[in-house]
Parts: sequence; C-alpha cells; structure tokens
Amino acid sequence: MTKENKIHIQVPKDVAFILRLLEQEGHEAYAVGGCVRDSLLDRQPKDWDITTSALPEQVKAIFHRTIDTGIQHGTVTVMMHHTGYEVTTYRIDGEYKDGRHPKTVEFTSKLAEDLQRRDFTINAMAYNPKTGVVDIFDGIGDLNRKVIRCVGKAQERFSEDALRILRAVRFAAQLGFHIEDKTREGLRELAENLSFISKERIQVELDKLLCSDNPGHMRILYETGVSKVILPQWDAMMETQQNHPYHCYSVGEHTIKAMESVPPDHYLRWCMLLHDVAKPVCRITDQQGIDHFYGHQKKGSEMAEEILRGLKWDNRTIDWVTRLVYWHDYQVEPRMKIVRRSIVKIGEDIYPYFLQVKLGDMLAQSDINRQERQEALAEIGRMYKTIIEQKHCLKLSDLTVSGRDLLAVGIPAGTCVGNILNALMEWVLDNPEHNQKDLLMEKVEELRKEMVK
Ligand code: ATP
Ligand code: MG
Repeated sequence: MTKENKIHIQVPKDVAFILRLLEQEGHEAYAVGGCVRDSLLDRQPKDWDITTSALPEQVKAIFHRTIDTGIQHGTVTVMMHHTGYEVTTYRIDGEYKDGRHPKTVEFTSKLAEDLQRRDFTINAMAYNPKTGVVDIFDGIGDLNRKVIRCVGKAQERFSEDALRILRAVRFAAQLGFHIEDKTREGLRELAENLSFISKERIQVELDKLLCSDNPGHMRILYETGVSKVILPQWDAMMETQQNHPYHCYSVGEHTIKAMESVPPDHYLRWCMLLHDVAKPVCRITDQQGIDHFYGHQKKGSEMAEEILRGLKWDNRTIDWVTRLVYWHDYQVEPRMKIVRRSIVKIGEDIYPYFLQVKLGDMLAQSDINRQERQEALAEIGRMYKTIIEQKHCLKLSDLTVSGRDLLAVGIPAGTCVGNILNALMEWVLDNPEHNQKDLLMEKVEELRKEMVK
C-alpha cells in the first residue's frame, strides 16, 4: 500500500527548480534516499539526490550543464550554482555478480520499483512538494521506532550486495538506531559475503561508523560475525581480558570507551580503535595474575599499518595513525624542557592529537589517580601552547645559526658541522632564550675547544 501524506520538507531552491523543470517536461521527479530520511529526522542532509522517470538523455536535454557521472546506471549530475545534484532514472537492479555490482540495470517508469531496490526502509522514501512523502515500506514508522530494517527479505538484500551488511551497522551508529531482528539475523548469515566486497567500499563505511556518535556499535560487528571477516583483530580485542590495576575492561571495551572519549575526528577515532590492537598478541600474565602488554605500542603501530594499508587508506592517515599508536603510551612530565623534547620526538604535526589520544586513553581506564593524571596532561597542553606561541626552536632549521655560519668560521664540513648543530639544538631545547646568533656563535667556540681537546 502506498502511503502518501502531506508532510512538508524544506527543499533547497535549486532542488525544487530541478524537480519542477522535470515535471514541466512531462516526467516524474522526486528527492530520494538520504536527504528525505535526514530531513524527516531534522538532520542536515549532506546532498540531495533526485530520482526521475526521465531517461538520462532526456535529463541532459533539459539542463544546460550536466556531467555523465554514471550514465550506464542512469545517473547524470546536474550542475546548479556550482553544486552538483545526481539525477538518476528510476531503475530496477538486475542480478548481482558476486554480491558486488548489479550485472545489468533496467530503467522503469515506476517509482515504486525504484524504491524497492534500495537497502533500508528509511532510505527508500521519496518526496516532492506536490505529492508529499512517498513511503511504501513504512520508513516513517521505522524512523519513529528508530529501527534499521531491510526493504524486503534481509537475506536476499544482503546476498545481492554484502556492503549493505556494513551499511546497516553504520546507519544504526550514525542515527543511534537498533537493527531489527530479521535484519540482524541476515547480517550474521551473510557476513562471509563481505569478503567479496572491495576494501575501498568497506573503508568508507567503517570510517562513517567510527566517526559517528555511536562508535560502540563496533560491538555489533563482533556479535554478528562481521568483524571476523573484515577486521579479525577486533575480535581478538573483544576477547582479550586485562587484569591490571589501571584497567577495568577487556581490550575491546576499553577501546570503545576510548573512542567515545575523543571527538568524532577521523584520525583520532582510527587511532583509538587501533591503539591497543597488539595487546592480544603481547599479553603476558605474571605470577600474581597481573597482565602485562610489553611492546604493544610498537607492535601495534606495525599492525595498524598493515590494517590501514589493507583498507587502502591514504598515506597521511597511515602515517599519523601509526605514529599516534606508537607514541600513545609515551610518558611526558609537565616540565617545559621535557615537553619541548617530546614535541621533537613525536612531531609537531601530530602533537595536539597525541594529547587528545592520551586523554581519551586515560578516561577509558580505571579512575586510579585520574585527577592527578588529567591535571598533568592539561598542564602539558598549556606548555605546548606556550612553546608554539613563543615559537621555541624545535628543529635545526629554527636555529639562528646554520651550517653555513659554522663553515664560515672554519668548522670542518661534514660530521663536525653536524655534531655542533646537534649540540646547539640540545642546548636551545633546554634554554630556548639562547637561540640568538651571538650566543650560539660563542657556544660554537666553546664546543670547538672541547672538540680539539
Ligand atoms: P549518506 O548520508 O551517508 O550519504 P545516504 O542514504 O544518502 O547516506 P548514499 O550511499 O549516499 O547513502 O546512497 C543514497 C541512496 O541510495 C540511499 O539512501 C539508498 O536509498 C540507496 N543506496 C545506496 N547504496 C545502496 C546499496 N548498496 N544498496 C541499496 N541501496 C543503496
Ligand atoms: Mg548520500
């Protein structure tokens, strides 16, 4: 039964224009999918997709500026005021190949058939100002009940495209929804099929899950056997207990708490996910029954690299996250000299993240000495701010003398120059106010004498 109702959705001007123009030319046209769902939830839609009975060639004939985005799947991007709107012809997806791509797509003139190919009821609603919301599968009911439910039979839908398995959990995490029982059963039954899905598509969904308000939905991946297929290291974390005075959760539960304790930032959430990834393989229980995880930082950084590379992450993500995992346990004392040296070691680029990682990790541990440790961290943060604001010297190129100055006063080229520059750097790291050319050149003479001795 088609439920049509007159709920009003505020559609951007350009979208309303596109819908109107398509209709004036005798076609049907609706905003569809995520934008309808988000509008009904009072969330800001990221983009507005349009579905229409017009064929791609007809869409192209109506609008001046279009891009052939995926013409074989019926998608044309219409450009309006520098924004692109994907306009896709109503279609029925044909048989799926290996649970990946539909082999064929067939255009149809029926909106209902287009909505039926979509993954979840909440994503299968269409809207235009004349008709209101077209909601054939009770998406509105599921929005009210806060439920993710497949359109049609879950098993069938997941076997057509296994990525939907991960999308179910991702939407549940983003919206704070439950996964309806049959849909959840489907996740479990077809989880294996995720091994046919490209790493790039998995990466996108995992990232959205981690950066959502509910990164704890990672639990569902474990419970339904999904992570066993795409991230088996997560299962090991969920299954590793840690008996230690500073810890009160399993590695997996601690990780979830740690993710929840940092802002929803891509680098931070991936770092928190992976910071203890090596604990399961580094665990040693001593005679008192206390668990230790010696070397899990370095090993974790190596494992993180392998995981992130496997998921085809970009170089910056791999670099930052692996370094943060490596340093996450590094102890810094709130003393200016020590903080400066730690910035040099860890890197100025990731230092603010390092502080957030340490805070998140700490908030997810037992509360022994928490206040003291938190205050020390806040103090380090203030010191870091001062160091950056006052532009303290943190690298050789920040020194007020260069190799050339040393050569000019007769220091032999090569290791000598290098050694002296390093010695100056050490001196200035302890005493930033000494980074003045005349003082440094005096120091050079002292060092020269020492070297001759
Ligand atoms: P987001 O806000 O993350 O963009 P979205 O719902 O817009 O969420 P998209 O991936 O942009 O998600 O897809 C747009 C719409 O296309 C979805 O709402 C859904 O109707 C449909 N769709 C996307 N991917 C699939 C899929 N794998 N299987 C079935 N339908 C899909
Ligand atoms: Mg979208």
